[in-house]
Amino acid sequence: MTSPSRRPIRNIVIAGGGTAGWMTAAGLSRFLREQPTTVTLVESDEIGTIGVGEASLTLLAHFNHMLGIDEADFIRKTQATFKLGIQFNDWRHKGHSCFHPFGRYGQNIDLCEFHHHWLRLRAAGQGGSLDDYNLNTVLALGNRFSPPVKDLGSPLSGLAHAYHFDASLYARYLRDYAEARGITRVEGRIVEVHQQPESGFVTGLSLKDGQRIDGDLFIDCSGFRGLLIEETLKTGYVDWTGLLPCDRAVAVPSRRGDSPLTPYTRATAREAGWQWRIPLQHRTGNGYIYASGHISDDQAAQALLDTLDGEALADPRVIRFFTGRRAKAWNRNVVAIGLAAGFLEPLESTSIHLIQKGVVKLLQCLPDMDFAPSLADEFNRQTAFDYEDVRDFLVLHYKLTQREDTEFWRYNRHDTVSDSLRDRMELFAATGRLFINEHELFKTASWLAILTGFGIEPRGYDPMADALPFADVSHALIRMRTMIAQAAVQQPDHAAFIARHCAAH
Ligand SMILES: Cc1cc2nc3c(=O)[nH]c(=O)nc-3n(C[C@H](O)[C@H](O)[C@H](O)COP(=O)(O)OP(=O)(O)OC[C@H]3O[C@@H](n4cnc5c(N)ncnc54)[C@H](O)[C@@H]3O)c2cc1C
Repeated sequence: MTSPSRRPIRNIVIAGGGTAGWMTAAGLSRFLREQPTTVTLVESDEIGTIGVGEASLTLLAHFNHMLGIDEADFIRKTQATFKLGIQFNDWRHKGHSCFHPFGRYGQNIDLCEFHHHWLRLRAAGQGGSLDDYNLNTVLALGNRFSPPVKDLGSPLSGLAHAYHFDASLYARYLRDYAEARGITRVEGRIVEVHQQPESGFVTGLSLKDGQRIDGDLFIDCSGFRGLLIEETLKTGYVDWTGLLPCDRAVAVPSRRGDSPLTPYTRATAREAGWQWRIPLQHRTGNGYIYASGHISDDQAAQALLDTLDGEALADPRVIRFFTGRRAKAWNRNVVAIGLAAGFLEPLESTSIHLIQKGVVKLLQCLPDMDFAPSLADEFNRQTAFDYEDVRDFLVLHYKLTQREDTEFWRYNRHDTVSDSLRDRMELFAATGRLFINEHELFKTASWLAILTGFGIEPRGYDPMADALPFADVSHALIRMRTMIAQAAVQQPDHAAFIARHCAAH
């Protein structure tokens, strides 16, 4: 039932059928099923999708759950593997490795956060490695996997996982889902966008074959070009290439070979950027993200091919991008989601997560025919925050590096950062304290992983940690480490777990 005073949106049109288009369609099909709203998605096989984007964050499991998707079925159909975190190699300096896991480190004692107890022990030459307090890390580095358990007394309850998956297969999977729930798919190339002359609101799309698709609300999922939000509405772009100077990627899949199926993404720093390695069931995804002012496309492609751990399965493909976000993700009656809304390099696998957030925000702010401007303002405020939040966390990686071996690293290291990021880094270095806003995507454990992993040794810790006898804290932390080590060795090999529970056919 809709309220009598409301004039609900009748027709929603999604322009684009990549990951963003089909995640939006799936979300709308699930939550608008009782509404008198039709949803039409237009995509063009001729244009295709970006075709990369294979590692997620843990919250994708919630999105799938919200849609009622069975995890094992999703894994089988998208050739997925489990992801427990990201291994950063050669970032701090060549030869160094550290791990950014999902899930928490240790347990808080009384009111004091775990890491202050650990820092207190560290100051006395005890406490061991932070890695030993995170089960995700210990499992990942042993190529083991387990899903979390509900028993809060078990260390396995603190586990958290994401996925590596074939994004094209995921889009296909969601297409089946959305079409089964009434979404109409139209194949065709959009050649013209129609607008109301006075308001500039978009009224319809003309396709190459002469069809016209009219709508009240348009979701721009057309990729980097932003067919509606930019090419039609000229919304503008906030450019962050000064903060994150990589502007290209070269990608190539490779044969999996005999190497173990790692339950983590690998991000290895290179001469003019960094290289990803993402293991799927049927192949490995690889790519080199680089700054074109510091290396040519051919050199980057060769560097990538030289470092694959299996035979290349295609020619390397170069992708250009501009780091930043659309000045407004919602302009008039157009809402941009996915690459049309902005792009940040995939160092922490955040783009698909930002799509997910965009879809959820859209559902929460869904307008009626009055298009209250305050809804668009709120959507834009939250979207700007989400992109800036991720941007600062990515910049952190470049600022902390101690590499000076190429111009690329020297430039990144000494470039400026936002005031809030600088303040947070200084506060942590001086006192070990981290104050994370509840809306931030990356929580204390993530900041801790990168700050300490990349070499910041705080000079202090929260004095509340001193309230407990040193020996008690020392024993408590030994117990935590031991429980984690014991739990880890009992878990199955990652590949064996997949073979048993969710192998792709
Ligand atoms: C190098 C690289 C690596 C990445 N790695 C990750 C990662 O590890 N993790 C992660 O979360 N994200 C990653 N991403 C981001 C991820 O790939 C994208 O966020 C995701 O694929 C969404 O893309 P999209 O749907 O917005 O755009 P696209 O995939 O480009 O889809 C655009 C759609 O619009 C349609 N279209 C465009 N113009 C027209 C027209 N005129 N008429 C009709 N249809 C049209 C196309 O046919 C297509 O269907 C990566 C991105 C890049 C560039």
